[in-house]
Amino acid sequence: MQAPKVGIVAIQGDVEAHAAALRRAGADAVPVLRDKDLDGLDALILPGGESTTIAKGLARLELYEPLRGFIAAGHPVLGTCAGAILLARRVLNHPVETLGVLDCTAARNAYGTQVDSFAATVDPESDPAFAGMRCVFIRAPRLSELGPGVEVLMRVDGEPVLVRQANVLAATFHPELGDDPRVHERLLETRAR
Ligand code: GLN
Repeated sequence: MQAPKVGIVAIQGDVEAHAAALRRAGADAVPVLRDKDLDGLDALILPGGESTTIAKGLARLELYEPLRGFIAAGHPVLGTCAGAILLARRVLNHPVETLGVLDCTAARNAYGTQVDSFAATVDPESDPAFAGMRCVFIRAPRLSELGPGVEVLMRVDGEPVLVRQANVLAATFHPELGDDPRVHERLLETRAR
């Protein structure tokens, strides 16, 4: 069987770490910088980084509408950290233009400047497929006001950190850091339901 082809929006952020994580999960990684790059992709990743910078790049490259179309067509998409912010319908703390496909509010840099990065283990009440997972948070957003179509797959200290709405997955942490392939594998298994 051919390896699935997964695009990574490559404007800024941890593109390389996602490419390595995809290879560990058995997929090919393709950088996305133009609408044509979306042709023939099986799934897409919006990486972590700086959401203001990535949003400016999306506008400059005229990628908002092509990405909305790709997601509306039912292709699986994973946004991590800044990428999760760019999927959300509503953003707090210096909002940026988003794709608006995930029914929730993302508060940027919600853990404050004192504790801007930390690692934590997923709560035991999470989806058992992710049991024991260590999550790295870097100036992470906090998701709230989840709509009825949004399912929480992982929590840390009671906060949702991995959520799914149909074909859209969003993680507030960095599953591409470390060597746990489970979130990338979930992306490859995700279908619009
Ligand atoms: N704080 C960043 C933002 O708001 C996200 C941080 C990250 O992606 N690691 O864009």
